[in-house]
Amino acid sequence: MRALASPDSKRCLMPRERLLVKSATVPGRLDAVVVGAGFSGLYMLHKLRELGLSAKVFDSASDVGGTWYWNRYPGARCDIPTTDYAYSFDPELDKEWTWSEKYATQPEILDYLRFVADRYGLRSDIEFSTSVTSARWDEQENRWRITTDRGNEVSSRYYIMASGCLSMPKPPDIEGAGRFAGQVYFTSRWPHEGADFTGQRVAVIGTGSSGIQAIPLIARQAGELTVFQRTPNFSIPAHNGPAPADRLKQLAEDREGYRHAARWSRGGIPTELTDILGIAASDEVRRQRFEAAWEQGELFAILGVFADQGFNPASNDIVAEMIREKIRSAVSDPETAETLSPKDHYFGTKRPCLDTSYFETFNLPHVRLVDLRRQPITSITEDGIDTPDESFDIDALVFATGFDAMTGALVGVDVVGRDGLSLKEKWAAGPSTYLGLTTVGFPNFFMITGPGSPSVLSNMTVSIEQHVEWIADCLKDMSTEGFETVEPTELAESGWDQHVRDCGAITLYPTANSWYMGANVPGKPRVFLPYIGGVDAYRRACDDVAAQGYLGFRMTGPRGDRCQDGVIRRMQPDVAMVLDMIAQLGLPPLDALPVADARAMMAAVATARPPGPEVGEVIDGVMPGPDGDLPYRLYRPPSSAEGPHPIVVYFHGGGWVLGDLDSDDPLCRDLCARSGAIVVSVNYRHAPEARFPAAAQDAFTAVQWVDANAAMLGGIPGQLAVAGWSAGANIAAVACQLARDAGGPRLSGQLLLTPVVDSDMTRLSYTENGDGYILTTALMRWFWDHYANPADRGDPRAAPLRGHLEGLPPACIVAADFDPLRDDGIAYASALGASGTPVHLIRARGHTHTSLTMVDVVISGAPVRAEIAAALSDFFPAVTAPAR
Ligand code: FAD
Ligand code: NAP
Repeated sequence: MRALASPDSKRCLMPRERLLVKSATVPGRLDAVVVGAGFSGLYMLHKLRELGLSAKVFDSASDVGGTWYWNRYPGARCDIPTTDYAYSFDPELDKEWTWSEKYATQPEILDYLRFVADRYGLRSDIEFSTSVTSARWDEQENRWRITTDRGNEVSSRYYIMASGCLSMPKPPDIEGAGRFAGQVYFTSRWPHEGADFTGQRVAVIGTGSSGIQAIPLIARQAGELTVFQRTPNFSIPAHNGPAPADRLKQLAEDREGYRHAARWSRGGIPTELTDILGIAASDEVRRQRFEAAWEQGELFAILGVFADQGFNPASNDIVAEMIREKIRSAVSDPETAETLSPKDHYFGTKRPCLDTSYFETFNLPHVRLVDLRRQPITSITEDGIDTPDESFDIDALVFATGFDAMTGALVGVDVVGRDGLSLKEKWAAGPSTYLGLTTVGFPNFFMITGPGSPSVLSNMTVSIEQHVEWIADCLKDMSTEGFETVEPTELAESGWDQHVRDCGAITLYPTANSWYMGANVPGKPRVFLPYIGGVDAYRRACDDVAAQGYLGFRMTGPRGDRCQDGVIRRMQPDVAMVLDMIAQLGLPPLDALPVADARAMMAAVATARPPGPEVGEVIDGVMPGPDGDLPYRLYRPPSSAEGPHPIVVYFHGGGWVLGDLDSDDPLCRDLCARSGAIVVSVNYRHAPEARFPAAAQDAFTAVQWVDANAAMLGGIPGQLAVAGWSAGANIAAVACQLARDAGGPRLSGQLLLTPVVDSDMTRLSYTENGDGYILTTALMRWFWDHYANPADRGDPRAAPLRGHLEGLPPACIVAADFDPLRDDGIAYASALGASGTPVHLIRARGHTHTSLTMVDVVISGAPVRAEIAAALSDFFPAVTAPAR
C-alpha cells in the first residue's frame, strides 16, 4: 500500500514498527486521532495503518470492546444473529472465529473484539482509560488540537469520532435519583465483578432492550423483583440456540457472496424482501407470514412481515395486534398482560426487542409490574421508590434507562471547528450532516455511523465497515490528489438533511416518542436521527458521491482547491423506488407501441394499484358532447361533508391519446375527499381517432353542461372550477380561455397539475428530465404527433401559453422537479401572474410528472396533494372546506 504524502506522514518512510511504537508513546503530531475502541475504532485504526498513517485511538474504557465492554448486565446479547454481527473485511479473520450461539453473549462478543485487537496488533496504538475532552480546529495549521482528561495534547490532521451511537448513558431524570442508599446499577455501566441479587428486593426501571434482556435473569436470583414500566415495548422471542444452519451453510458455500449480499441489503443482513401488502393479504396469508417470522426470532423478519407495515398504519396494526395476542397468551394475569401490551406507538417505530422468557417472567409470584403511567414515581428515596399510592422498599436499584443516543457522545466532546463554531452549538436544533459522515464547518472531521446514516437501523457491523472504508478511500484519494483538507458544502449538507427527512417522513417512524427521535432525553430536539433509506441505497449514495469527484465536498491543498458542489439525492425516496420497480419490469416505452397496445398497457398497470380513498358516492353518467355523448364519473364528498358542494370538472392525463375515467380514478377520489368538492371527471375524445381540437372542444362543452346542471348534480350553482393533469390540464386551461372568450361560464379557478401548455419543447426541463422519469421527451413528441398537426400546435387551443391571458380565473399550477414539463408549468404561472391572474405555484419537490397521481403508492405525494386540495378549496371561499 502506498504511503500518504502528507507532510505529517514523513514518518511513514520509517520502518513501520518503529513508527507505531513512537506514535503510541510520544503524543505529538499525528495523522489521525480516533475516539473509541469498539467495532468502529478498531477497524478504523487498522485501515489507517494500512494507509501508512500514524494514528492513535483514545477510549475511556480500560479495554477494547466499546458497547461490549460497558454493557455487562445479565442477559446482554446481540439482537442481530452473530453470523452477521461480525467483521467481514478480512475473509481469514471471518473464518477464524466461530460463534457458539445464534445470538452471542456479551462476554463472547467482547472476547471476539479482544481477539481482533490482538490479531492485528492494534493495542499499541490505543490509549485506554483516557477520555477525549476537546478537539479544536487550528485554521493556521489545518490541524486538530485534541486534549484528554489525562492531560494529553495531540495535534492531528484528521479527527475521527468512532465514539458510538449508544455509548453515552442517559443521566437518570428521576427525582431523587442519587439518593438511594442501597446498591445502584446501570445496565450501560455494569460492574466488571457482576452483581449478586440472591434473595434481594430488586427494582428495575426501564423496559427497553436492556431491561427486557436483564429482567428474566435478575428474576431468577432476586427474592422480589419490581419492574417499573413507563412504556410497554414490543418484544419477540429470540429462540436462541445454535447459529442458524441455513446461514452457516450459505457462509460455508460462498462466504464472499454472502457478505456481499449483506453489504447490498436493506438492513445489512441478506434478507428476502416481500412485496405482500398487509392491507391486501388474506387473513390466512397474514397469519402464516406472521407465525413464520415469530418462529424465526429475528428482527428483520418481524419488521418485514408485510411490505407496507412501516408505512401504512392499518398494515402495521395487523402485526402489532398479533404480537399483543402473543403477549396475552404468555401472561396469565389479564391485567398485567394488558399493561405489558404496547398501544401507543406503531410496531417497529421504537426499536423492537428480542427476549428469552420476558413476558413469562411476570407469571412468577415474586415478580411485580408497576405501570408508571398510572402510578408515576414521585421520588427515589434512601430506601427505595415512592409513588403516589405506595412506597417500595428495596435493596438494589437497576437503571435500564437507555442512552443519549446518536449525538450524545459526539457533542460530549467540546468539538470546535472553523470560526470558533462548536458542534454543540451547530446542532442545537438537531444534527445536520453530509452523509452522516461529515458536517460543514468541521474540516477533516469524520463520524462513524453518525446521525443521517443507517447506523442503528441496520446491522451495525456492516454499516461500520462501510463508513470506515469510505473514510479510508477518501483520505487515500485526497493524498493522491494532493489535498490536505476536506469539508462538505452547505448545499450538499442541506440537501442530504432534506433527503434524510424525506426518507423518514414517508414512514411511521417519526410518529413515535423514541430515542430515534431524541424523545427519550428531556430537552433534546425532536429530529428523526438515522437514515431509513436502507443500507444499500445509502452505500450507493456514498459511492456516487466519490465517483462524482466527491460531489458536495470542498477539498483544499497546496496545489489548489476543488469543489464540485451539488446535492446527491434530490428525488423523493419513494418516487425513486417506484421508478426502480418500473425499470425492473422491463416494459417497452409507450412511444414504441401502437396506440391500442399502449392503451392496453396503461389499463393493465392501473389494475394493480390501490383504489384510493373512499368517497361519499360515485356515479357514472353521460353528458351531451359536440360529437356524441361524453361519459363522466361524479365523485361526491364523504357523507360527513354536508352538501351542496362546489364542483370541479376534471380532465384526465394521457397525452390526449391515453387514459379514461378509470385511469385517474384514485386521484379524483383523493381530490374529492380532501377538498370537499364534487369532482366530475369527463372522458373526452382521444387522438388519433379525434385529433385537435376535439379534446379541447369536448372540455369546454363539458364545463358548460356541468355549469348548467350544477344543482341537479348536487353542486352549488356558480361555484365551479376546472382541473386536470398533464394533457387534461392542457384542455382545462384551454376551457378557461374559451369560457372567458364566450362570456361564460364564470369559473372560480383552474387547477393545472403538471400541465402541457406549449408545444415548444426546448425549455431546459425537457433536456434535464427528458429521459428516465416515465414521461419522456420522446413520448411527448409521440403525443403531439397523434394529437395535432404541426401547423396547429401554436394555436392557443393547443398551446394555451400562447393565448391572451387576461381575465382568467385564479390558478393553482403544480410543477414537479423531475418532469420534462416543469418549466412549461412555471412559464404559464409567471405569464398568468404577469397578466394579473392570481397564481398559486406549487413546486412538487423531488417528484416526477406522474408520481403525484400515484395515490397510496407514492406516500410523499400525499402532503403535496393536501396542498393542492387546500388551494382547490380556496377557489371557493364562501364554502367551508372539510378539516384538512
Ligand atoms: P461503541 O461500541 O459504542 O464504542 C464507542 C467507544 O467510544 C466506547 O468504548 C466509548 O467509551 C468511547 N468513547 C466515546 N466517547 C469518548 C470520549 N470522549 N473519549 C474517549 N472514549 C470515548 N447493534 C447491532 O447492530 N446489533 C446488535 O445486536 C446490537 N446490540 C447492542 C446491544 C447493546 C446492549 C447496545 C447498547 C448496543 C447494541 N448495538 C447493536 C449497537 C452497538 O452499539 C453497535 O453495534 C456497535 O457495537 C457500535 O460500535 P462502535 O465502535 O461504533 O461504538
Ligand atoms: P431504551 O430502549 O431507551 O429503553 C430505556 C427504558 O427506560 C425505556 O423503557 C424508557 O421508557 C425507560 N425510561 C427512561 N427514562 C425513564 C424515566 N425517567 N422514568 C421511567 N422510565 C424511563 O434503552 P436500552 O434498553 O438501553 O436500549 C437502547 C438501545 O440499545 C436499544 O434500542 C438497542 O438498539 C440497543 N440494545 C440492544 C440490545 C440487544 O438486544 N442486542 C440490548 C440492549 C440495547 P420510555 O420508553 O417511556 O422512554
